[in-house]
Amino acid sequence: MLNSLRSIVQEVNSARDMNSALAIIVQRVKTAMQTHVCSVYLRDANDDYVLMATDGLNPAAVGSVRLAAGAGLVGRVVVREEPINLDQAEAHPSYQYFPETGEERYSAFLGVPIIHHRKVLGVLVVQQVERRRFDEGEEAFLVTMSAQLAGVIAHAEATGVVVPAGEKAVQARFKGVSGSSGVALGEIVVISPKADLRSVPKRACKDVDKEIRLFSDALPSVRQDMKTLGAGFKSRINQQEQALFDAYIAILDDASLGAEVTDKIRSGIDAAYAWSQVILAHESVFNSMPDAYLRERAADLRDLGCRVLAYLQNINQEERVYPDKTILIGEELTASMLGEIPKEKLAGLVSVLGSSNSHVAILARAMDVPAVMGAVDLPYTQLDGRPVIVDGYRGAVFTDPNEQLRKHYEKIFLEEQEMVKGLEALKDLPCITRDNHRMPLFVNTGLMADVLRSLERGAEGVGLYRTEVPFLLRERFPSEEEQRAIYREQLEAFAPHTVTMRTLDIGGDKSLPYFPISEANPFLGWRGIRVTLDHPEIFLVQIRAMIKASEGLDNLKILLPMITNIQEVDASKGLINRVYKELLEEGHRVRMPQIGVMVEVPAAVYLASELARKVSFLSVGSNDLTQYLLAVDRNNAQVADLYQAFHPAVLRALQSVVFAAHDAGISVSICGELAGDPAAAVLLMAMGFDILSMSATNLPKVKSVIRSVTMVQAKYLLTEAMRMSNGDSIHRYVNQYLREAGVMRLLVPSGAEEMN
Ligand code: PEP
Ligand code: MG
Repeated sequence: MLNSLRSIVQEVNSARDMNSALAIIVQRVKTAMQTHVCSVYLRDANDDYVLMATDGLNPAAVGSVRLAAGAGLVGRVVVREEPINLDQAEAHPSYQYFPETGEERYSAFLGVPIIHHRKVLGVLVVQQVERRRFDEGEEAFLVTMSAQLAGVIAHAEATGVVVPAGEKAVQARFKGVSGSSGVALGEIVVISPKADLRSVPKRACKDVDKEIRLFSDALPSVRQDMKTLGAGFKSRINQQEQALFDAYIAILDDASLGAEVTDKIRSGIDAAYAWSQVILAHESVFNSMPDAYLRERAADLRDLGCRVLAYLQNINQEERVYPDKTILIGEELTASMLGEIPKEKLAGLVSVLGSSNSHVAILARAMDVPAVMGAVDLPYTQLDGRPVIVDGYRGAVFTDPNEQLRKHYEKIFLEEQEMVKGLEALKDLPCITRDNHRMPLFVNTGLMADVLRSLERGAEGVGLYRTEVPFLLRERFPSEEEQRAIYREQLEAFAPHTVTMRTLDIGGDKSLPYFPISEANPFLGWRGIRVTLDHPEIFLVQIRAMIKASEGLDNLKILLPMITNIQEVDASKGLINRVYKELLEEGHRVRMPQIGVMVEVPAAVYLASELARKVSFLSVGSNDLTQYLLAVDRNNAQVADLYQAFHPAVLRALQSVVFAAHDAGISVSICGELAGDPAAAVLLMAMGFDILSMSATNLPKVKSVIRSVTMVQAKYLLTEAMRMSNGDSIHRYVNQYLREAGVMRLLVPSGAEEMN
């Protein structure tokens, strides 16, 4: 049973499209359960349940049999949200007979709901001629099957709404998480890793003859490469291995393979996509062969396929012209991919994998480019050249938007431009409430680009310099001198203002390409201070570089990430003191920087009083704190709705950290994304945070709100919010209060607000 379950799900997973996925389901489930009928009903746009595939009923009934929720046996499965198992379906009061199906022959009926994210997507039904109840094992099998298939069907449904190029496009919406706020309207450019057969974007071919020529020219080039490679290896490899090169050349010479590709090009697609499709189809034939030797040939074919593809892509790359408003989409965007596009043409980013904390999202925020991350259902390879809207506020992507939606977003876009202009005037004004409460606003940085923008926007210091960013951009650990130079740049740019440098915070989802950490539970694993205390050589070099860089400026503070216990603080302080003494002995005229601890795990919240007595300041990392308090992976789009920054548990934790810090007589700041949310900033100010640190993009908005409220209003809002027990309600309440008070007017374009 387990084997059939696995293999059915695998097969369905690799189906080309929704229809083939459904066909596989009905055929394979029917065989596995040895029944006479298996059918799938799926919910349509009108919330009716339509027969979408069947093996056993009359195929002509597909698409025409439909039942409302509650109607017929299928409809009853929908409303009950549990299986219905009957030995004599026709005797049941809910039984509805559809003559076009020919189902009168079947008595036994078992229907189980297909549920995804609490919604009934459809019903999976098996039927049998004999009058008998399906046994418990069979019922359990179908329930398991349905639970497994729900996600696959939901994904296929989401991706299936995108119609092929050339046909009338229908607007489709895909969900992800916000990577960088703002909206962008533009044209999709799909970018994929070179020579990866599975991620080749489907592009229409403008000039068939040219594309065929390109393909025909690529083959001899690769053939020549293979010959040269084979000759080079001749003395080192055995005869059998030599035969492999000959086999490769034979594949390239195979006229039928070439004909398949040219046929596809003639149907209107470019050479790279045509080639990838042909090779993948052949590869899957090899893969399914029982003979192990033949199965291994699949790998050879793939290797050869990649070589030819690399040729085709290199030539295309030279000719690539980027549209003026390029929306770059890829499975996993990287910093180097961004570098390929002229900056003035890049309007937005969408990454199928990744999160708001991915490197590319951090870059997007630094560059002020709207970005959506984790759009896992996006059929990105099919979308090149399509019009698209990126909503970086809500983490949504709309392909082929209709006129109405386009107008709506154009309006938001224009409002945004106005908003930025309006806020520029605030740069030199102090961040002070109407009743004279000063609220220092700092920035979070990582790149030099952030620094320049932060200064332009009137930042009063750096609350969090993520040192892992320069580490991520390299191919090895930067040396002490390289680090010193990078840190000096930051410290100098802000002097005399404070720059709070966090020691290397890798692990979790931030792994360095040259220091991979592979774990089953990375967020609960070797992260932040745990890594650097285990590798004092890395920690000591970094601290030396930081303190040396501060010589003569004395505006450095050091921040320790992911602290969960007092020993980690003691050990870190011990190492920092050691470095400081050594530097003095070496003759450097440096000052001992203040040391602070990040409060980003629940343990640190409960230990805040003790921690506060060990260090000079606390800084709350609300991104991680929210993740760990609510047990919601901050990168997982699947549970993004549960990641509630205004959750009462989060707010209470934040308040208690402020009290603990102030009781101990030290200052406390917050540097998670929450501080950059204008509505949250008001609450945080009322809680007593001494510094709010945020991305440069959000700083003017937060300043505008704080300058428009009084501390009395903020405290009132906080008291009310703290009485509430639901995060969404708190968020709505605060937004509404500020909107009604006229405070949020210019901050989030009104259209984007409406939809939040
Ligand atoms: C945080 O966790 O809130 C934080 C500021 O650190 P990072 O986002 O880099 O994990
Ligand atoms: Mg963190």
